[in-house]
Amino acid sequence: MVTINLNLNNFSELPILSEVFGSFDNNYEYTAEGIFRRKAPPFCPRCNSPMVHNGYNIYTKKGLGDIKIGRYKCSNCNCTPEENRSFWEGLKSVLFDSLDDFFKLLRSHNVSHEGISAVMDFIYPRSKSTILREFSKNMEQEKVSHDENVLVVCYDEQHPKKGRC
Ligand SMILES: [Zn+2]
Repeated sequence: MVTINLNLNNFSELPILSEVFGSFDNNYEYTAEGIFRRKAPPFCPRCNSPMVHNGYNIYTKKGLGDIKIGRYKCSNCNCTPEENRSFWEGLKSVLFDSLDDFFKLLRSHNVSHEGISAVMDFIYPRSKSTILREFSKNMEQEKVSHDENVLVVCYDEQHPKKGRC
């Protein structure tokens, strides 16, 4: 399990931090300064020399938060790779995929894009055009079956009644 270094500022965040970093093993740490990195810097991907910790890069998603991803430096070839942040991208995907499902559900109940945008102001603000774009993109991926041999029944405008033709 990843080592989470707590301080008085992030102590209350332990449950959520454990959830986010739960899949990482004991080789990783979340420092008291909020940097996610490997405890022991890995070997250089280019020249295979041992690297050292070298600060971090911040990735921000407006309205959601940010993450400091640890950087390493190779003293031999001077390259500065950073730690894999796929978990961060994964977290965003989980959220936005569920929002897409939410948009689809509201659209199926005939809520307008503007109406969805107004509802989203309570959750995670999204503009009308963003919702329209996401919804359209999502619906393009949907497989819609086209029935061949559709039987069309023609009938008189009058209500059908027993005994009539
Ligand atoms: Zn190197």
